[in-house]
Amino acid sequence: MQFTRRTLLKVTGLTTVIVALLPRMAFAARNSLRTVRTGIQPGNKTRLVIETAERPSYSISYPANQLVITLSNTAANASLAPAMASGTLVTAITQIQSGDKLQIVADLAKPINEIPRDSIMLLNPNGDNDYRLVLDFAAGSGAVAAATSSAKASQKTTTPSRKYVVVIDAGHGGKDPGCIGKGGTQEKVVVLSVAKKLKNKLDAAGFRTYLTRSNDTYLKLAHRASIGEKKHADLFLSLHANANPSRAMKGFSIYTLSEKASDEEAAKLADAENAADKIDVSGFEQFDKDIRIALSSLQQHAVAAMSVEYANGAASAFKRAKITQQPGPDVRHAPFAVLRSTVPGALIELGHLSNATEEKLLKSSAHQDKLVAAIVKSVQGYNFDV
Ligand SMILES: [Zn+2]
Repeated sequence: MQFTRRTLLKVTGLTTVIVALLPRMAFAARNSLRTVRTGIQPGNKTRLVIETAERPSYSISYPANQLVITLSNTAANASLAPAMASGTLVTAITQIQSGDKLQIVADLAKPINEIPRDSIMLLNPNGDNDYRLVLDFAAGSGAVAAATSSAKASQKTTTPSRKYVVVIDAGHGGKDPGCIGKGGTQEKVVVLSVAKKLKNKLDAAGFRTYLTRSNDTYLKLAHRASIGEKKHADLFLSLHANANPSRAMKGFSIYTLSEKASDEEAAKLADAENAADKIDVSGFEQFDKDIRIALSSLQQHAVAAMSVEYANGAASAFKRAKITQQPGPDVRHAPFAVLRSTVPGALIELGHLSNATEEKLLKSSAHQDKLVAAIVKSVQGYNFDV
């Protein structure tokens, strides 16, 4: 049977109006539409999220005052009730089934320009989410800027609507002590203590957490990263303490993954942290390659963007807690093996064990609590709802 009938599911606000009933599927849809939602992002950008059961193959077009996303080989969702946030540019969402193609038509309050590539993200399933095509856009250059009051009003609160999954990685362990302070304090001991405290506090705050290690065990870096994947983590935090040839050097620093280091110091640090695997590198090369292949460039971009968003928030939380910051940028980037995955995350150097004052602080339970409180704030402030 030729499939030429068009099916319209008109949605305005939160009300679904079925204009025509779905015809029987004459094609074997490989993919299906799960949910559509809108939200407001910083800068008064509208975010449109299209969730599908399988990885979507899509194209985007821009008819007047509309944004049309065409998904190939996808079935419409007759019971779809899009979650429409107030204050966005999207006024209505319509599904149009045409053959095996599903068009999602967003009616817009104002015209927009073509969405740049770096504002389109394709995310893998994690937690309760399936594949998500995420589009961020603002009113076009000809349009009058919208008032920001409604955007502020619809900013999400910090109360999680579902249990977000955080994997906490205490660096080093077992035969790999990490760096060692002048007083003999071992990095692997400090970070495990902080990781356990952090797990308790995040559990109490309503998150679901997993430790990569809960005792003095050696784990390969790729294995740590794979725990994030296996647990479908929303966020991966690797905890470390630093050492510097200059014993005067103090402060925390926060890093995200990139192929190229943001500066020479970040490059050296990544070398030092990656050196853990030189003790036992078997299996790492292969995993690294698999993960690289699994990640499309769009996903890499999305994961990197989300990681940097988290890391910036974390740097702010540490500064608000009056924790000493290492001089330099808030967030640096380097090729850390432990961060190579599809899970957004950061590597946090909690302080310098090579500095006598900070070695004492890092050992003290009170300072560890202070660090943990700042990390909890950073996790609560992170926008998990993509
Ligand atoms: Zn380390």
